Amino acid sequence: MSNQEQSKVSPTEEKDRTSGAKPGLSEISFKPTVLVIDDEKRIRDACQRLLIEEGFDADCAENGEIGLKKIEAAHFDIILLDLMMPGISGFDVLASVKSLHPDTLIIVITGYATIEHSIEAMKKGAFDFLPKPFSPKDLRLVVSKAIEYIRTLQDIATEKSRMRVMINSLGDGVLITDNQKKVALANPAFLKMICCTESDVIGRPISEIIAEAVLLAMIDQALQQASDTFVELTEEFSIPGERKEDELIIGVRCIPFRDRLGRNLGTVTVLHDITTLKKIDQLKSDFVSMVAHEIKSPLNSILMQLKVVMDGLAGDLTEKQKEILFRTSDKIKALTMLSSDLLDLSKIESGLINQEKEEFNIAELVRRQVDFYAEQAKAKSLELTMRETDPSIRIVGNKTNIEEVVSNLITNAIRYTPEGGKIKASVEKDKNYARIQVSDTGFGIPEEDLSRIFDRFYRVKNEKTRFINGTGLGLAIVKSIVEAHQGTITVSSKTDQGSTFSVSLPITSS
Ligand code: ADP
Repeated sequence: MSNQEQSKVSPTEEKDRTSGAKPGLSEISFKPTVLVIDDEKRIRDACQRLLIEEGFDADCAENGEIGLKKIEAAHFDIILLDLMMPGISGFDVLASVKSLHPDTLIIVITGYATIEHSIEAMKKGAFDFLPKPFSPKDLRLVVSKAIEYIRTLQDIATEKSRMRVMINSLGDGVLITDNQKKVALANPAFLKMICCTESDVIGRPISEIIAEAVLLAMIDQALQQASDTFVELTEEFSIPGERKEDELIIGVRCIPFRDRLGRNLGTVTVLHDITTLKKIDQLKSDFVSMVAHEIKSPLNSILMQLKVVMDGLAGDLTEKQKEILFRTSDKIKALTMLSSDLLDLSKIESGLINQEKEEFNIAELVRRQVDFYAEQAKAKSLELTMRETDPSIRIVGNKTNIEEVVSNLITNAIRYTPEGGKIKASVEKDKNYARIQVSDTGFGIPEEDLSRIFDRFYRVKNEKTRFINGTGLGLAIVKSIVEAHQGTITVSSKTDQGSTFSVSLPITSS
């Protein structure tokens, strides 16, 4: 060992406590183990004493051979390693430690003249270096830096393991992919839901482990989202079981995650088993549809019998009796309307109504509805017209359903527009969509009600609407049909000025 490598640390030296730069070693929750390998006894002893005082578990070795034996026998968090020793050199010890315990941090102790060695040692994986001579403060600083580093690594590892335990114990399926559509994480619930029996899926392309086309398409779509949009994609799919009752219905949510520049780094997909919810919903729909169906025929027969009485075929009636029967018949008509709407709604919900689709000219369909309601509008002194539209727009859909949409919008416009008002229908091409609009100069819809008028049974209650019969189901039916055709419906309205309903449906050819 050269003279230049004489350390300022000596066994008799007082600890340097003046700087106040003791960087929080006491906060460390684990007891780090340190090995000092130095052929100079004075330095070994001084370092060991100081490290023990600081709460470390410190051991010493007087040369590379003994040091390596100790390293093979036990794991050390930090090794203070003299580079210049007789026998095995510090560099050889460094190489062995890197292969035996890659997580051990090595701080090399060097003399001024051997600064190149320190750089060399750093290149070979040393964490830091401590030039001789060094003071207790220097030693503390370099060791606390290493401890800080170990603690950060530990925090990351703890956080990772906590996340892994949490995600693995979730009942919902979680899949995380990178932007190359490779699996970065898939919890057991996810693998179970997609019936994947393999356990080693990390790093594999999703197409190798997922058969469900809906899922693959959602991940594709999420990854293609532009950085200025952030849409959570939602879908449902079913996994058939051996028996019909074993079928699972899974709700899927898929979102991309991004770096700070908005680039898509990957996707997170969450699967939730909604089988029970769907079954309860189905039971409710079945019940409503059963009740509606059961009351519809008796109501129709009551109406017919009432008509016989009202027409005087069962004997003469007084004016008072006629008036009462007229009001009764009105109420029963409202009830039949309700049961028809409920039946329509449950048919749409069970997917029955939308099965037969065909291609047709949408402007023609709207024009026929406008013609059909011309009489009814005229009777209320309303001007019902159709704006000249592009006659070539065609869509694919269930014609009866789309007729119901247009007829609902036109009858609503007639019902909610006072005499003398105007109603206009139109069909226009808007990019790849056909936009059907029905606007009126009627009562309008108060702003606070606008977001709710598509809810089932929701009706605006005010002085103007209270005498108009309705079920509050028409727009709910319209919305369900439009959405089943991959379309959208919006409304804009101003009280006492009128409303415009716009329906957009995908175009097939132009
Ligand atoms: P219903 O007309 O049977 O009450 P809807 O679902 O068709 O049920 O409509 C819900 C509510 O929306 C209606 O009660 C009415 O208050 C309002 N509404 C619908 N269309 C119009 C319109 N064109 N103008 C004003 N209000 C409307």
